Amino acid sequence: MHGHGGFEMNGHYVPTMEELTEYQSTRDPYAGSPKYGLYTIYFCGVTIGIFFLVHWFKAALFWSKMRSGSQISPLKSRIIATARLLTYPRLPYSSARVLNYVWAIGPLGPNIILFIGLLFVSMYCWVNSYYYRLPFYGSPAIALRSEWIATALMPFVFVLGAKRNLISWITGVSHDKLQLFHQGAAFMIVYMSLVHTIGMIVQSLMEIPFSETYASSYIWWSGFAALGSLLWLYIGSLPFIRKRLYEGFYFLHIAASIMFVGFLYFHGTGLLVTDAYMQATIALFGFGIAARIVMMFISNVLFRHRAQISLQGGSVRVTIPTNMKWSPGMHIFVRFLHIRPFESHPFTIASLPTSKEGEQNEIVFVIRPETGFTRVLADVAVNTASDRKFPIILDGPYGEKGHNTLRAYNHVLLLAGGTGITFIAPLFADLVRAMQQKDGPCTKIDLVWAVKSRGKDKVSRASSC
Ligand SMILES: Cc1cc2nc3c(=O)[nH]c(=O)nc-3n(C[C@H](O)[C@H](O)[C@H](O)COP(=O)(O)OP(=O)(O)OC[C@H]3O[C@@H](n4cnc5c(N)ncnc54)[C@H](O)[C@@H]3O)c2cc1C
Repeated sequence: MHGHGGFEMNGHYVPTMEELTEYQSTRDPYAGSPKYGLYTIYFCGVTIGIFFLVHWFKAALFWSKMRSGSQISPLKSRIIATARLLTYPRLPYSSARVLNYVWAIGPLGPNIILFIGLLFVSMYCWVNSYYYRLPFYGSPAIALRSEWIATALMPFVFVLGAKRNLISWITGVSHDKLQLFHQGAAFMIVYMSLVHTIGMIVQSLMEIPFSETYASSYIWWSGFAALGSLLWLYIGSLPFIRKRLYEGFYFLHIAASIMFVGFLYFHGTGLLVTDAYMQATIALFGFGIAARIVMMFISNVLFRHRAQISLQGGSVRVTIPTNMKWSPGMHIFVRFLHIRPFESHPFTIASLPTSKEGEQNEIVFVIRPETGFTRVLADVAVNTASDRKFPIILDGPYGEKGHNTLRAYNHVLLLAGGTGITFIAPLFADLVRAMQQKDGPCTKIDLVWAVKSRGKDKVSRASSC
């Protein structure tokens, strides 16, 4: 396709802007490419919408069961059983252990959703087989599609990675369960960014030597700098690194994310609607951080928490008097100012808030010493008087708020392994409280607790009727 107003370079015709616009008008034009970002947002929005509906469906089901004594229609039972069958299964430990080096696989449900997301992203990018343009006729279509898909995923990845975030508030899913989506969406950004970069390089090689292309605009070095930060972020977050070097991973993750956003902002600033995505990312993430700081201020400056620690049966027991309230199964991040002030670790609250008016609550953590902070805490517990009070900063509680949905069943079986009992104990205590208060249909609870002790494994069984 040759016009008359342009000129020749390296044996190719270089069109005028009018000729280029006309050529592109019927071939995935640059100006229309933001639609790929828009439909990616719709896809994420619909997924969040489905989670929102499921959240309210579960709440309605809970109240209907509480009223009708655990009975629901056979059709509802069948739907729920099918949903569980499709979402709960996990890989056997032997296979999951290997996969866990690169992907914290978890249950089937989130993996199915992420697979659908990956399919959507891939098809949206690749199905239209018009990938490259004639030399000098503009950025290749494949690079534009992948660029907008990656850009539109940015706000979601940042929101999904925050402890207090909008998606948790809309869907009721807590930050720890959203982690898998944070990692999955981040993988899609890496994938689309690589397609974008390779597409741009291939197209530019059709035109002039790459060294000349690279020197022609800031867009190239800023793009490579953003991609470098992104790869560092992704590779540095793989489970085999995160598990071995948690603190190192954490600080590098924050540093690399700031660099990534900075370079990317510079790379795309002023191009179509890129700035809007970057501003939305910063605003939504900033909102989550601000909410976290406000909540931390309220719970720490107003309540001034102090912790007592002791060693009991190989575990560290931490008790903290508080006016805070929480639901069974929730966890809190704790920072011991006199022990390791720069580290904050999550622990499940093993106690329940009191049900008596005017009485103060007590947070109890049961902590198994690992090799880092928790080992130091165990050493301090051995060498310190048990009435010593340590200043701490609490960040939380996090996790699913509201009612213990197990209250809606007449017979509950609870299974715990080791310190997993810290999650089960408050649920058990809450069910016992519900039975005493005759609140809901629950009449029988079985608790099975498997504990490893030196030389032998022990399984304890408790029932409450
Ligand atoms: C939601 C949640 C609730 C938890 N509840 C309990 C509980 O009630 N009792 C209990 O004993 N343990 C609990 N844990 C595990 C506990 O947080 C870690 O064992 C502890 O942070 C290890 O610290 P360390 O420096 O001794 O770890 P290391 O010996 O350095 O590492 C041991 C393991 O802990 C992980 N880890 C280290 N630091 C952190 C961190 N800041 N955040 C998350 N994981 C980390 C590492 O990935 C590694 O796999 C919980 C974890 C989570 C995510």
